[in-house]
Formats: sequence, structure tokens, C-alpha cells
Amino acid sequence: MELDDHAEDLASDLGVDKEEVKSDLQNLIEYSVPIDEAKGSLRRKYGDGSSGGGSAPSSKEIGEITPEDGNVTVTGVVLTAGERSIRYQGSDHVIVEGKLAGETGVIDYTAWEDFGLSPGDTITAGNAGVREWDGEPELNLGESTSLSFSEEPLDVPHEIGGDAQLADVQTGDRAVNVEVAVLECERRTIDGRDGETEILSGVFGDESGRLPFTNWEPAPAIEEGGPVRIENAYVQEFRGVPEVNVSEFSAVSELEREIDVGTDSTTMDIGDAVRTGGVYDVCVVGNLIAVRDGSGLIQRCPECYRVIQKGQCRTHGEVDGIDDLRVKAILDDGTGTVTAVLDDELTEQVYGGSLEDALEQAREAMDQEVVADTIRERIVGREYRVRGHLSVDEYGANLDAESFEESDDDPEARARVFLEEIDGVDDREVVDA
Ligand SMILES: [Zn+2]
Repeated sequence: MELDDHAEDLASDLGVDKEEVKSDLQNLIEYSVPIDEAKGSLRRKYGDGSSGGGSAPSSKEIGEITPEDGNVTVTGVVLTAGERSIRYQGSDHVIVEGKLAGETGVIDYTAWEDFGLSPGDTITAGNAGVREWDGEPELNLGESTSLSFSEEPLDVPHEIGGDAQLADVQTGDRAVNVEVAVLECERRTIDGRDGETEILSGVFGDESGRLPFTNWEPAPAIEEGGPVRIENAYVQEFRGVPEVNVSEFSAVSELEREIDVGTDSTTMDIGDAVRTGGVYDVCVVGNLIAVRDGSGLIQRCPECYRVIQKGQCRTHGEVDGIDDLRVKAILDDGTGTVTAVLDDELTEQVYGGSLEDALEQAREAMDQEVVADTIRERIVGREYRVRGHLSVDEYGANLDAESFEESDDDPEARARVFLEEIDGVDDREVVDA
């Protein structure tokens, strides 16, 4: 049958204008949609309820896909395509992940079959599954997906390829390319999913920032210190911050140019930093409004190193605790709050004494809370600049401090801004009421 006949068929079935149907059909076929699927899609478009009761996939613009869609047919340009090995139901699968762009949006996809996708390909995926991830729709391309490549490239307002700067890299990103200096690197033996495995872990840096990495199959160019270009890395959360993962499918090559790694971390408003869900190496400035319980002189479990209460570990029961120092301090800059966690060294600095001094002060007072009280007197009400790694969990935001310094800013000026912000909030609340 010719296109014309198909169009005539459809037009008389659906009682609509033949030329209109023909032009729609032409469009779909140009995107390599099989004729039967194209006709099915138009039947649904023009409202013929008798054809399959809506169980067949409908054509959708990428920007219009929602997590509620069951299966869809989409046309788009492959922006990125990265292989990764995952363990699924007990066996290893190589999957391809990346982003697909249309004229109206971008969507993440996972291909469970080897479709041979490459960045720049224009494809039509018939019967692609839609699933929800983190509130957003994603595409699953699998066995029941019919995939075709189009000769005519679709023009999309997005850059093809996965080149990224470390500052812009986010948890969940796939097929990322970075050019980085290796700032820290150590070879470690871990208990992986196939027993003991040698990996490299450390910190990458570029002009935009720093991020921790794991290299699952030690690459010589990384171990020698770089600089390196890495293609097809993926980003996963580890200990609350994004981490660059370099796998057996990543390409690592020596880089000729030097990478100028900035020494300054990004300074952010606390509210913005918390909203990112986790940042490696960030700087915040805020008023220290309280020192939380569990600060000062504390005891840790010798087994799991968690803080214990009255000689009891939640996991290991009664244990002989190890004395330690730490501070959990709440910092507020008017946009949000974060708990800055200071390790023993930083705590010694703000306390003005060593662990031995703290133990002696506690013995004399017959109360170890005096150490936290001393720290409170020294730091509450002052303004600090704290640099470290910020993570967010269900209990709130923690900033694992690497440095903790009293701010050089004019505290009066900042206090004024802070109060104005609070006044602003009050005004809005009055207006709302
Ligand atoms: Zn324990």
C-alpha cells in the first residue's frame, strides 16, 4: 500500500481530512516510525477509541513525557551514551545510559539492549518504557522497544557530548567527560562485589572545583598524577557528596595541557548549598548560633567509632569508650542553617587545649559537660567562615569542616543584613496573613 492509500484508509475510518492525516503520517515515517505504529498513533491522536484501548504507545514530545506515561514513542537526538556494568538479578549486564534531547526537552534513558547508540544519532524509539526516578520521568529502552535511526538529523538546542566541569557535575550524571588534575590518589584494597579488589581513590581538580573519585580499574595515567582526560565517567553519591566513578568502560588518556586548579572553594549561601543536596568543598559564612549536645568531650565505641552514651554503643552494647573531642555547631546566615562538625584538631583549636586538658577539666568539675560549656562561651554569637564537605540527610545538613575561622567580614554589617532579612520575612508573613 502507498502512503496515499494508508492516509485514505485512516481518514475514512476516523472521519477526518485526508490531507491532514497524510501530512502527519509523512512526518512519522520520516522519523522511521513503522507504518502500523504510525497509523496506531494517529488513530489515538484523532480519537478512535476502538483501536487498542490506549494500551499501545502514543507518540510524545520529550518535553511532554510525565512519569504517569506507560509506554511512549519518542524521537530525539542522543546527547550522551555511556556503557556501564551493573549487577541485576545476580548477573552482570552492560547497559548504556545517557541523555536524549528533543526540541522541547531532555530526558535520561537506560538502554538494556545493545542498540549501538552514539552521541549525535537521531533515533525514534517505539514502545519505550517510562519510569519515575527522583520525581522525573526516565526512558527504558529494552527488548520490546523498536529502535530506528534517522538519516535526517533533528536540530535540538542542546550540546552533543558529555563534556563537563567538576563544579557542574551532579549525582546521577552519566557518560560525563572531564579534564582534570589528580590532586590526591591512593591505591586501596576493598571488599567489592567480587571479593577483594584493588581500586584508586582520591580527589580530582579542575578550574571550577574539586571532587572525590573512585577508579575501579586502576588506570596508570591517573595513578601517575595526571593531568588526564576521562571520557564516560558516571557520578554517584558517596558519603553524601557527588563522586566521579571511572570504570572499565571509561577512556583515560594523558592530557597535554596543564590544569590550573583554583585553591579557593566556592562560597555559597547556606540555603543554596543545602538545596544542592550535597557539595564537596564549599565555603559558608554564618553566625554561630548554638553548640549542640554531643559536643566537647565525648566517648566513641572502639568497634564502630560511633559516639556512645553512658558507655553504651547502640550496636555493640556496653563498651570501653575511647575519649575524643568534637564540636557540632549550628551556623546560620539568614538563608538557612547547617551543622558544622569539627574534628578533634579543630576542636582543640576552638577549645584552646588538648584532649588531656579537657579530661583534666572534666575531672576537676566532675562533669564532662564543662568542656562543651567552655567551647560555647568562646564561639557562640560570633561569625565564622567554614570550609568543608556538605551533606544532607533526613536529619538536616552537616558540614564536615576542614577549616573553621572567625570571619574577617565586618560582623556589624553582616548582623544588620541578617536582621533586615529577618524583618523582610516578618513583613511578608504579615502581608500573607
Ligand atoms: Zn559500636
